[in-house]
Amino acid sequence: MASTEIPRTGKIQLLDNVTINQIAAGEVVERPAAALKELLENSIDAGAKRITIDLEEAGRALIQIQDDGIGMEPEEAKMSLLRHATSKIHRVEDLSDIQSFGFRGEALPSIASVSTLVLTTGTEDGQLTEIIVEAGKTVSEKSVAGPRGTTIRVENLFLNTPARLKFLKTDATELSACVEAVSKAAIANPQIAFTLRHHNSVLVQTSGQDNLETAVAEIWGREVARALVPIDLFNGTARVTGLVSPPHFTKPTRSMQWFFVNGRPVKNRTLIAAVDQAYRSLTPERRYPVGVILVDIAPERVDVNVSPTKSEVKFHQEGAVFDAVRRGIKEGILAGGMVPTFDQVAAANEALLEHRQVSLMPGISAGPIAGSGLAGIPTDQPISPLGASTEPQLEQSPKEKFLDGLRVLGSIDKTFIIAENRTNLLVIDQHVAHERILYEMLCRTRGSTAIESQPLLTPETVTVDKRVASVLSERLDDLRDIGFDMEPFGADSFLLRAVPALGRRRTPREVLQDLIDEITDGSASSSLIPTRDEVYIMCSCKMAIKAGDQLGHAEMEKLLLDLAESENPYLCPHGRPITIVLPKNDLLRRFHRA
Ligand code: ADP
Ligand code: MG
Repeated sequence: MASTEIPRTGKIQLLDNVTINQIAAGEVVERPAAALKELLENSIDAGAKRITIDLEEAGRALIQIQDDGIGMEPEEAKMSLLRHATSKIHRVEDLSDIQSFGFRGEALPSIASVSTLVLTTGTEDGQLTEIIVEAGKTVSEKSVAGPRGTTIRVENLFLNTPARLKFLKTDATELSACVEAVSKAAIANPQIAFTLRHHNSVLVQTSGQDNLETAVAEIWGREVARALVPIDLFNGTARVTGLVSPPHFTKPTRSMQWFFVNGRPVKNRTLIAAVDQAYRSLTPERRYPVGVILVDIAPERVDVNVSPTKSEVKFHQEGAVFDAVRRGIKEGILAGGMVPTFDQVAAANEALLEHRQVSLMPGISAGPIAGSGLAGIPTDQPISPLGASTEPQLEQSPKEKFLDGLRVLGSIDKTFIIAENRTNLLVIDQHVAHERILYEMLCRTRGSTAIESQPLLTPETVTVDKRVASVLSERLDDLRDIGFDMEPFGADSFLLRAVPALGRRRTPREVLQDLIDEITDGSASSSLIPTRDEVYIMCSCKMAIKAGDQLGHAEMEKLLLDLAESENPYLCPHGRPITIVLPKNDLLRRFHRA
């Protein structure tokens, strides 16, 4: 490395250009996928319609990217390899209004300083400039014939910086990072046809039809794309579009939550939090919905110059962006229908398995497939192999659909209510149904008089141990909100003045005791005070009728009517299914009556 030439005299001197570029390369191109991402962005900025990438040895031996963009004149080609040479901004003011991917003017010289780089580029006239740079030094420059566009070959990346080479992970990891970079570019740019080959096997191919759903289908598979619902919302600050999964379609990690801000793939906490909030109480713990979320926002309202790789962004109004994403998704999944039919769950399961299989790279072994089962329905439970439904879904709200012709038919094992409506046979878990109803009452989604409080004639003393007392004191307001009026009474006692009016099944004291046990159990393990939402979830679970409780016909009807009023009659606050739907059309088909 050039830095060894610097004499150890302690004298301050300017670094030479190659050294400066190598230092920048450490930030901008720390791995093959990062170099590839920079080159992709340049081709997209150049207005390419077709981008073809060839890799060898996971990008270590070769990254070649060929585009049909505007190309460069001979002088521009030379300039492009100089540090801080860019055609994209001219003044510092331009930084606040960035429309292109690039602007730092450091990618090409950085990559050229740590590889052998061959740049071949030209505009309309059939004359191309070919420049070869070895470890930052130009070794050849000539003119060749060819069509408009730019081809960049990056050979032996990091060969002259062994320290960097040492930090690279296995080929499988480096290659999958490259696949991800191209896949994300393809989703953000459905108007461009991308091809990614590794030793001639095609890993990514999109058709450039300028349609997001098509691009998602080409990247994640047609079945995954079909399971997703579109979102589209503008709240005055940000426009949010994309495709997201219904709540029963989840993964054990966030690896299929892709965010883009003004077309740039980004990592951003606000966006992740907004997704979590949109699915709150709809998906089970530690399961993550899948989706492509595109945020478009005026360039002056977002800072993309936060990190050298431009993968992080900072919003000036985080709250407004959070709101747009949360509401956009919530409205999308409500409108898209969240009914987990046997078909949809089975289809989603298969789609995810299939996606797993296609993501395994040819010639490279992947780790074990973890947690491929879908949330909501455990995979060890047989899922009825009904044929995919081809019936168009009626454009009714979930509530209207649920209520249309609703009739209770009976129950199974004092646990499941069997009912029908106009289009479906319904199987409802009575416990989780009641739990959802109570949870929404507690959250007061139905107005402030939802839970009635019943004053006790004589207040009762509740005595607990000190640790429980300290946890409870933190949650007195929440408990009061849901009908338990308690106040501190000495060091480890509380005075209970009123209890919620719960009906006849469980006495309020029993519920309170269960609740205290669970609140303190939970906090014992996590050493945390449960949140208000957690208290509500626990409380609705404790108050709800149980599996095995015998219900009369009228009680079942009341339960279903209440359920229809809930925000989500299909999933409980823990994300378990409440209602399983068997379309009558499928019955007809199965009995060959269609
Ligand atoms: P930046 O993208 O930040 O401007 P780069 O070092 O990535 O900096 O590229 C320097 C310049 O080279 C760009 O501003 C652009 O003018 C030119 N350039 C790079 N790649 C291409 C390409 N594929 N097609 C046309 N011009 C390109
Ligand atoms: Mg660039």
